[in-house]
Amino acid sequence: MRATVGRNNAKELAVRALLFRHGIRFRVNYPVPELPRRSIDIAIIRIRLAVFIDGCFWHGCPIHRSMPKANQRWWAEKLKRNIERDAETTATLIRLGWTVERYWGHTHDSEIADSVLRKISAINEALG
Ligand SMILES: [Zn+2]
Repeated sequence: MRATVGRNNAKELAVRALLFRHGIRFRVNYPVPELPRRSIDIAIIRIRLAVFIDGCFWHGCPIHRSMPKANQRWWAEKLKRNIERDAETTATLIRLGWTVERYWGHTHDSEIADSVLRKISAINEALG
């Protein structure tokens, strides 16, 4: 689990570096309005774009979801709550006018960065 968390942080750092190099300015771990103790991994405030990079284990990636052998019932409940929490976070942000982009931790960093850059262009175009 520790390794999973570490990998995801490395991924997030790599994505942040790529975006920064493209001149994108953002905030990290930006508080989610109305929901205490939750944060947006990468928030591009000006256009209200919220980017999340969800670790495969904790967020229940359909390809890599796995269940620890011990305490299965506890883990099943815990991971289910995480997924519900993510859905609630997404719904809240959308209601408040944010665009939400979620990527799995297994996605390549340059693929995530390219996708975010395309999204930013699309939003900027729509804003005129
Ligand atoms: Zn995955």
